[in-house]
Amino acid sequence: MSKPFAWSYSSLTAFETCPRRYYETRVAKTIVEPQGAPLLLGNAAHKCLELRVSRGTPIPKLIQVTATDGSTVSQSSEGWETMIKAILSKADDSTETVVERQICLDDRFCETDWFSKTAWVRGVIDLGLIKETKALLVDWKIGKRRLDSDQLQLFSALAMHVWPKLERVVTGFVWLKNNDVDKQEFTRADIPEIWERFLPRVKRMKQAFDASTWPERPSGLCKHWCPVTTCPHNGGYES
Ligand code: SF4
Repeated sequence: MSKPFAWSYSSLTAFETCPRRYYETRVAKTIVEPQGAPLLLGNAAHKCLELRVSRGTPIPKLIQVTATDGSTVSQSSEGWETMIKAILSKADDSTETVVERQICLDDRFCETDWFSKTAWVRGVIDLGLIKETKALLVDWKIGKRRLDSDQLQLFSALAMHVWPKLERVVTGFVWLKNNDVDKQEFTRADIPEIWERFLPRVKRMKQAFDASTWPERPSGLCKHWCPVTTCPHNGGYES
C-alpha cells in the first residue's frame, strides 16, 4: 500500500522544481542522492547549535565535514556564541524554549504525531522562544543568503496552530556564514491568507501524487546538477 500523502516546505519546493526529479529521489527513491559536503556541513552546524542551546555544549571554533567523495568543507563559528546569547537573553522564566521542535499537522490543522497516518504537513523549528502571545522562531541557514518569505510564512502558521495563544510571531533566518538575519513578523490575522497561498500549491502536488504523474520540468539544474541520468534532459551529473 502506498504511503499517505504528506508534505513539507522542502518537499513542496522540490516537487515544484521538477516533479520527475522529486519522484525519483524522494517518492520512489530509485536514486539516492549523495550527501554532498555542503549538506553535511549544514547538518553538523545544526547539531552544534542544538547541543549549545539544549545542553550548553560549547560550539567548536571550526565545523568541518568530509563527504563520501573525499571533499572537505569547513565553516568558522565566529560570532555564533554571541548570537545565541543575544537570542536566549530574550527568554525569561515564563518563556517556553524549543529546539529542533517537530511540528506535524493533519489536514484540519490539528497537531498530530510526526509519523501519524493522518500527518499532512511537517516542519521543524530549529529554535523557538514562545512567550504568552508572542514567539520568535529561528531557522539556521548555512547556504547562500536568499530571503524565502514563503518558508517564514509557513512556519509562523504552523506555530500559531500549535500554540493557540500566539497572536504575533517573528520568524527569521540566521545566515551562519556571515551571521546575517532576515526576519518577518506575522499575526494571527495573516493565517487565512498564508493558507490561501499554500493550498493551491499543495493541491497540485497531491494531484500528481494521486495520479502518479511526474512530468519532467527542464531547468538550469538539468545540465550538471540532477542525479536522474535516465531523464532525456539530463546533461551529465556532477555530484
Ligand atoms: S534532468 Fe531536468 S527535467 Fe530531467 S529530472 Fe532532472 S531536473 Fe527534471
